[in-house]
Amino acid sequence: MNADRDIRYDWSREELASLYAEPFADLIFAAQTAHRRHFSANRVHISKLLSIKTGGCPEDCGYCPQSAAHEAEVKAGKLKDKDAVLAAAAAAKAEGVARFCLGAAWRAPKEKDLDLVCEMVREVRAMGLTACATLGMLTAAQAAKLKAAGLDYYNHNIDTSPEYYGSIVTTRSYQDRLDTLAALRDAGIRVCCGGIVGMGESEADRIAMIHTLATLPKHPDNVPINMLMRVKGTKLADAPPLSPIDLVRTIALARIAMPASIVALAAGREHMSDETQALCFLAGVNAIFSGDKLLTTANPALEHDRQLMARLGLTAASLSGE
Ligand code: SF4
Repeated sequence: MNADRDIRYDWSREELASLYAEPFADLIFAAQTAHRRHFSANRVHISKLLSIKTGGCPEDCGYCPQSAAHEAEVKAGKLKDKDAVLAAAAAAKAEGVARFCLGAAWRAPKEKDLDLVCEMVREVRAMGLTACATLGMLTAAQAAKLKAAGLDYYNHNIDTSPEYYGSIVTTRSYQDRLDTLAALRDAGIRVCCGGIVGMGESEADRIAMIHTLATLPKHPDNVPINMLMRVKGTKLADAPPLSPIDLVRTIALARIAMPASIVALAAGREHMSDETQALCFLAGVNAIFSGDKLLTTANPALEHDRQLMARLGLTAASLSGE
């Protein structure tokens, strides 16, 4: 069968809900089957995320320690200078990382800051790395500017279901997020878009989040699934913990519904056992973020990731993506 024939945009929520509720082994088998139609079974993409402007963000995303609305212990900083960013990119490349992502805690970039980020993007690409950025909302003109600078991927998450979204973020709408995704698609930038589980959402919300992603005009090229990091001082610091089985089911659903997209296990790995992470790989994860920090929260050290990947027989995708 032609691998692309299983790429669909007409999923219904009911169909996805019945997949989510399958016996666990059947769900994982379906996810593995979809995965192997589109990807090498044991290859994992490794990215590194650097915070280039930390804290003091005017948005009120309930999970985020960088929001000025929260009392988390994150100090607001200025935009990092280019040399420091490029030194971090060179170090990531030396560690075997293929994709370098620049993250800034902005509602949307100001033009002068965007010009500086564009310079960074040009130089990160000149090093032979894939360049990714996450800078908040973008207009069509800003997306075009980043594309001209050579940006490969832009991350902008929908966070959760359309119904639950208002309980998590009030300073920007779901539609604002969809508009930025449209601007990225129109500019020809590859889209990295996923969400967060464990924010007190229902099973129906997790399914609806995957449904939104899988029925966009084009599936995101990358789908990061995050497990909430319950950071002290944020609105969601006391959210009830989510069973790892629900995380794995959500990942499997993403893999089946968007079989040709890279599915990343993003935030939250620090608190996951090796066994939970192994189940996530089995359910279709083929990307992780490396390094001991993910923007402002802890992440497993590279050495631990190397050991876990070796024990599971996983290898890192090279700079060419192979
Ligand atoms: S998630 Fe991004 S936009 Fe939301 S508060 Fe944090 S840094 Fe700001």
